[in-house]
Amino acid sequence: TQRLNIIGGGMAGCEAAWQAAQLGVPVTIYEMRPKVETFAHQTGDLGEMVCSNSFRSDDDEQNAVGLVHWEMRAAGSLILATADKHRIPAGGALAVDREPYAKSITAAIHAHPLINVTYDEITHLPDEGQWIVATGPLTSGALAEAIQAETGSEALAFFDAIAPIIYADSIDMSRAWMQSRYDKGETEEERTAYLNCPMSKAQYEAFIDALLKAEKTEFKPGETAGYFDGCLPIEVMAERGRETLRFGPMKPVGLCNAHDPENKPYAVVQLRRDNALGTLFNIVGFQTKMKYGAQTRVLRMIPGLEEAEFARLGGIHRNSFINSPTLLTPQMQLKSKPNIRFAGQITGVEGYVESAAMGMVAGRMAAAELSGHTLPPPGPDTGCGALITHITGGAVAKTFQPMNVNFGLFPPIDTVKGGRKRRKERYKAYTDRAKETFSAWLER
Ligand code: FAD
Repeated sequence: TQRLNIIGGGMAGCEAAWQAAQLGVPVTIYEMRPKVETFAHQTGDLGEMVCSNSFRSDDDEQNAVGLVHWEMRAAGSLILATADKHRIPAGGALAVDREPYAKSITAAIHAHPLINVTYDEITHLPDEGQWIVATGPLTSGALAEAIQAETGSEALAFFDAIAPIIYADSIDMSRAWMQSRYDKGETEEERTAYLNCPMSKAQYEAFIDALLKAEKTEFKPGETAGYFDGCLPIEVMAERGRETLRFGPMKPVGLCNAHDPENKPYAVVQLRRDNALGTLFNIVGFQTKMKYGAQTRVLRMIPGLEEAEFARLGGIHRNSFINSPTLLTPQMQLKSKPNIRFAGQITGVEGYVESAAMGMVAGRMAAAELSGHTLPPPGPDTGCGALITHITGGAVAKTFQPMNVNFGLFPPIDTVKGGRKRRKERYKAYTDRAKETFSAWLER
């Protein structure tokens, strides 16, 4: 069988290599460390965890990331099996003893008869052979340039600037209303793409005070390349002047409060639909470096968001990722060079588990292709499939930012819709459905 080449021996690269090799395909991993370092990695180990030692919740009935754990275990994942082996007590989370964990991954990869590891940086996108690019959030500069040359400079970002994302069903519609600014939009979909939350002068002033006082995270040394205009954190805007936000993302123009047409709001927070399903909304222009606790507290001061549930909180990080919705096929191949797949954080998923999961699927797809078959992605109602569907089509390409797995990405289940009380039942239904679909996919 033809060889599969993988660039990057991190979460995604190791998992992709393992999956393909277990299916009988010979694999070479190219890993630049320890020759070329990143600001975050500390060792030359494969599969190193760059920050926290946690794979997050292990609850496969009530939590989307726990569900992905389940799917990965079912798929014979190296990352999950090794995490299980080095697990340390952490309540409901899957946390590991990080050093023996990474040493174990490295040893397993080296011991596999079908996997070679070459410790070199790859600086171009090859024209021939089967490749997976799994170079992660800290992709080397030379390869990043090669990706930009192939895809266009706009299609590869070096920072994420994530505005908080909220579950649509947790927004109080007796306060918020749907309207696009100046009623722009030809279609019903465009006209319902925005939700608006009105603020009085007193509410605005209290919000600015809370924002200025909130605890923030600093950039790590070596991480920052400075802020760039167009993605200033809201707290930095507020520091520049109390009115800056009111003339920026919170401007009240071109909108009329449907619940109180006589009263012009002093400021308006706009939320924009974040996925095709319409289950998620992001707060427009609200990228922030506020700490998570402060973020939830401050953002719930916004009228209509008092009970908001967050699918993901905001942040700004050094993070290389491509515009997958425009660049990748559902097979995770680069449209312009189908011999190259992308996997891991560089595809615009976020987190160790999500990255490894994308490696698992890409490795299996590549292995299938090398043996003359096509393996379709897992169904959109599974954890892995929901992520792939989101990055390769479900997400809005223009505002695409990295995403954690969450139930907002899943096709809704109608039979148990409604109130908060039913949430537990709904999540159980999501995970039951996912397990069934995923098991059928594995059979293929
Ligand atoms: P990585 O695990 O980074 O693997 C990519 C590999 O490719 C690296 O080993 C790198 O050396 C190699 N490489 C890069 N360029 C080349 C090249 N040109 N040639 C050859 N090899 C190359 N996620 C969490 O879930 N929890 C956290 O706490 C967390 N903290 C983070 C902190 C920081 C500072 C950063 C940057 C990210 C953090 N993340 C965290 C996200 C995390 O990096 C990813 O979730 C995960 O490691 C991504 O997996 P990956 O395989 O895509 O990339």
